Amino acid sequence: MSEEKKIYPIYIIGAGPAGMTAAIYLKRANIEFKIVDKYAPGGKMNITAVVDNYPGYFDIPGPDLAFKMYEQLKGMNIEIGYADVKKVSKEEEFFVLETDEGLEYARAVIVATGTQERKLKIPGEGKYTNKGVSYCAVCDAALYKGEDIAIVGGGNSALEEAAFTANIVNKIYLVHRRQEFRADESAVEEVKESKNIELVLDTIPLEILGDGNHVTGLKVKNIVNGEEKVIDVKAVFPFVGLDAVSDLLSDLNVRDDKGYVLVNAEMMTSIPGLFSIGDVNQKNLRQIVTATSDGAIAALAANRYVKKFK
Ligand code: NAP
Repeated sequence: MSEEKKIYPIYIIGAGPAGMTAAIYLKRANIEFKIVDKYAPGGKMNITAVVDNYPGYFDIPGPDLAFKMYEQLKGMNIEIGYADVKKVSKEEEFFVLETDEGLEYARAVIVATGTQERKLKIPGEGKYTNKGVSYCAVCDAALYKGEDIAIVGGGNSALEEAAFTANIVNKIYLVHRRQEFRADESAVEEVKESKNIELVLDTIPLEILGDGNHVTGLKVKNIVNGEEKVIDVKAVFPFVGLDAVSDLLSDLNVRDDKGYVLVNAEMMTSIPGLFSIGDVNQKNLRQIVTATSDGAIAALAANRYVKKFK
């Protein structure tokens, strides 16, 4: 590598709660670093209707919490750059990051790329995405004010977004493939108490129907009695889980069979200098509070790691 290449001491990929917290701790440690994201800062907070389990804030819209974190970084003179990092590889004493803006180099890398929404993978889903199919209730629910819609899934995302959306639309059909929900009890209770959410249980989605321009219905099947029917809805919001955004690490042997990154207590992978934090990691609890915790731990560990290059 030629002499003029800039090697950042630390490079953070992703500016969700994990990445932004790492940036705060690195700034306070007075070490040079770069933080980038390919979307707006905030990650999943930007598509979360309401957050009420992050201490210090109660009932705060996700985008507002994201903005507060972003403002904190701005106040500390931390700039978040734009880059889509496609691949990370390791040379002897530094990492090479292939981005859509060119190659970047760093002594240590903190991966904070999070997760992305899983698709239903049924006919009509791709055709009607943004024409009635949406993966973001906080962004799109208002488009269906007074209409009937379907939400698919039984986890925290589906139930919390259903409770939020029930105040906007006329009626929600909550389609879930089992009787029991995976979501927290408080979210389940809220949904069950809602007057305009109808539970459609033991039921899987088969096809999203439309008139060519927009969604008109959801074809479903009851997996207990085999009955199929069409629910007339103007929109379908799938919330059927998340997949790790970790393909950028595909050349490095640091992921489990589902793509989640494996780290030690210091948030370091088996590759020295490669750290990973937040939802992209293999972990039991994916929360904003666990993401910020990871960020603090990784920042201090990465700072210790890069000191050996001084
Ligand atoms: P999740 O917990 O993995 O739940 C996905 C749901 O979709 C499950 O109920 C699953 O059914 C169902 N499902 C999966 N594939 C399906 C398919 N092909 N067709 C129909 N249904 C399908 O995902 P999530 O709700 O997005 O949450 C992801 C993580 O973020 C979780 O760890 C969650 O706790 C966390 N989260 C936390 C909060 C909070 O604490 N406030 C809010 C949002 C998310 P089965 O149950 O039968 O598997």
